[in-house]
Amino acid sequence: MSRAATVLGLDCPRCRARYPESREWARVFAGCPRCRAAGVAANLTVALDLAGIGPDAFPTAPRTMWRFDRLLPVSRERAVTLGEGGTPLVRLERLGRRLGLSRLYAKDESRNPTWSYKDRLCSVAVSHAAANGARVITISSTGNHGASTAAYAARAGLPCVIFTLASVPDTMKVLMQAYGAAVIECPTSESRWELMRQGIERLGWYPTSGFVVPPVGSPLYGIEGYKTIAYEIVEDLGEAPDVVVVPSSYSDGVAGIWKGFVELRELRRIPRAPRMIAAEPFGPLAHALEEKLEAPEPVEGGASVAFSIASRYGTYQGLAALRASEGAATRITDEGVFEAQRALGREEGLFVEPSSAASLTAVMQLSAQRALDPDALVVVVLTSAGLKDPGASRAWLPAVPAAGGDFDTVLAALRDSYGLALE
Ligand SMILES: [Zn+2]
Repeated sequence: MSRAATVLGLDCPRCRARYPESREWARVFAGCPRCRAAGVAANLTVALDLAGIGPDAFPTAPRTMWRFDRLLPVSRERAVTLGEGGTPLVRLERLGRRLGLSRLYAKDESRNPTWSYKDRLCSVAVSHAAANGARVITISSTGNHGASTAAYAARAGLPCVIFTLASVPDTMKVLMQAYGAAVIECPTSESRWELMRQGIERLGWYPTSGFVVPPVGSPLYGIEGYKTIAYEIVEDLGEAPDVVVVPSSYSDGVAGIWKGFVELRELRRIPRAPRMIAAEPFGPLAHALEEKLEAPEPVEGGASVAFSIASRYGTYQGLAALRASEGAATRITDEGVFEAQRALGREEGLFVEPSSAASLTAVMQLSAQRALDPDALVVVVLTSAGLKDPGASRAWLPAVPAAGGDFDTVLAALRDSYGLALE
C-alpha cells in the first residue's frame, strides 16, 4: 500500500489555477502558462490532500527524510535514496553569545550523501522521474545540484547529462563526473538552459533544475523534498523557530522549506510559521521587496565567492514565501561571507562552502543592525560542505609554515603564522 501523499493537481501560487499532472516535462516544469502569458514566471507547486494526514505522518524513525513520505509525491518503497536527511541541528552557543543571540542554531545540511541539501530535492526528483518512466536525467548546474543529480541518477541506473559553466571550480566538475555524469561546459547560464530545454522537448529527458528564462526555479516535485528540513527542525526544537535563514539563488530552498512550515501549521503541529530570510549576493528578492514589485526582476550581477547562489534572477515563489512569512532578503558581500565561513570553522567546528555561510552572514549583518530580537529562536540553514570549494578558503588562510630542526622554530611559526604565544 502506497504511503505517498495524494496529489490533487499542480497549483499556480499566483493566479491559483490548478492543472492536472502530466508527463510533458517541458510544459509542466516551465511554470504557469497563464501567468507566463501575462508576463510573470511562476512555478507550479504540488497540491497535496492534507485531509486525513495524522500524527503517523511524522514518525521519528528511520532517520532519513523518506519517513515523511505521507507528505511527499512518491512513496518510500519507490524512493531512489542514499539515506539523505536526518541532518543535525547544531546549537551555535559561542557564536550566538558573540552576536547577542541567545538561541542560534545551524541546520547542517553538509551531512547529506553528496554534502549538500540538494540531495533532498534530487532524491525526490529522481524518484519521481524513475517512477514515471524517465530514461535520461538532465540538469544545468554550477556544482552542488549537478553532483547530487548525478549521484541519484547513478543510484537509479539512469544516464545523466549536466550542462555547466567553464568558470565552475574543477572540484565541482570532478565530483559531477565521478558519479558518472556526462558534463558539458556552456558559455552562459542562459545558453545552457536553452540546450537543456532541447533535450527535454526533443528527447523527453527529465530535468532536476529549471531551464526557462526568466527562471521559475527547479521542477516542482523535487522542491517537495525541502519541506522535510522544516519537519526536522520542528522535531528537533520541539517548537517552531522564529526566524529561518536560507542562502538563495532561485529560492527553491526558501520556498520549499516555507511550504513545509505552512503544512505543519495547517496540520496544527505548530501554532505559527517562522519568518523566512533569504541571503543573496546580488539581491533580486531584496530589490523586489524594496520596489514593491509583484515579481522579481533581474538585477546587476558580477562575481561572487558564493558562486553557488550567485544569481541575478529571483523567483516568484521565493518572493511570495518572504511576503507570506513577513520575512526579508539580505544582500551579502564576499567579505561578509568569508567572515561567517571563518567564524563557523574556528568558533563552532563547522566547515561549509562560502555560499552556505551566506545564511550566517545575513544573521551577522542583521544582528549588527539590531534587526533581530536577542531572544529569537534563529536557525541558519548551512546548505553545503566547505570541501566543495577549498580554493575559496585558501584565499584567507595563512600559508602552512615549515618547521625547522628545533622546537624554537615551531614556537616561532605558531606565533608568526597563527598568532599563538604558547611559551
Ligand atoms: Zn498562474
